[in-house]
Amino acid sequence: MKAIVYDAPRKFEYRDVDTPKIRPNEVLLRVHACGVCGTDLHVHEGEFGPRFPLTPGHEFSGEIVEIGSEVTGLNKGQRATASTTMACGKCFYCQRGDFLQCENLDGIGVEVNGAFAEYIKLRSDLVFPIEKLSVRESVMVEPTACAVHGMETLDMKPGSTVLLLGAGPTGQVLAQLLKLNGAARVTVAAPAGPKLDLIARLAADDVVAIDRQDPEIHRQHLRELSPHGFDYVVEATGSPQLLQDAISLASRRGTIMVYAVYADAATAQITPADIMRRELQIKGSFAQIDCFSRALAYLESKKVKVDEIVTHEVPLPDYQKALELAWSRKGIKIAIIP
Ligand SMILES: [Zn+2]
Ligand SMILES: [Zn+2]
Repeated sequence: MKAIVYDAPRKFEYRDVDTPKIRPNEVLLRVHACGVCGTDLHVHEGEFGPRFPLTPGHEFSGEIVEIGSEVTGLNKGQRATASTTMACGKCFYCQRGDFLQCENLDGIGVEVNGAFAEYIKLRSDLVFPIEKLSVRESVMVEPTACAVHGMETLDMKPGSTVLLLGAGPTGQVLAQLLKLNGAARVTVAAPAGPKLDLIARLAADDVVAIDRQDPEIHRQHLRELSPHGFDYVVEATGSPQLLQDAISLASRRGTIMVYAVYADAATAQITPADIMRRELQIKGSFAQIDCFSRALAYLESKKVKVDEIVTHEVPLPDYQKALELAWSRKGIKIAIIP
């Protein structure tokens, strides 16, 4: 089969590889589409500890074409997607039930081969059939599952004000979940453009354009919108400067959630006296491990709308073009079509 294979950071090739051979508890999926994620851009740079040689890609769906002898409940010809984080079940954190904090966590597309390929093999317990979703929608199941986990981490009180910094694909979903789950007002700040326009249509009550040249402009605009700050501030841009803004824009006793994918070496300045005096809470939300069925319920009911989030489809051999599109920030979600 054909696949994108990285041999080292920034060194990839579209080439022939062996089609994966399944074990008795696995299925083989012919990939229909796979979304390009911020994580893939970090993997491209060698960040997040990728295990080379590696085929990235973890936001996929396809058709089951082969089934292992021990697999039950799945059929050939079924369209399906899969959860992409795998805990070891044996370490200190797994034994406490904190599977997402597993010390040996494997992620599809980071530690094990992903779906920028014609076929991917999957442990059957990770697989979810997707009868009611289009191929475009199915690319957004994994990001939606991450947003569901983000909602759980945020643990928001009903009637709260929320500021979301950033309007990328998971932000587009998170804004909808905030609205569905009792936020009184959802404000989104992001650079002006199609992402901010879409989130205004999908979920945001207020949108504020971030001005990278003169950040004082959006800071002041946000302070005017919510003079006492926001009860919850979600940092979904990956910019340390905006994390500092997030802390200063939270209300007293407010919560800040770090939700973006940052560069491994990124650091931000915080003022401990301010955290203590204003009784702030700072939380992190990373990926997901048990949110796929709930993400599917949201998408199948169409309560969460993702169709317009997928803005580009790029053939697998043109992976470089997809990366350039992602870097240029012109589209929202780019889907690779093998
Ligand atoms: Zn992703
Ligand atoms: Zn573990």
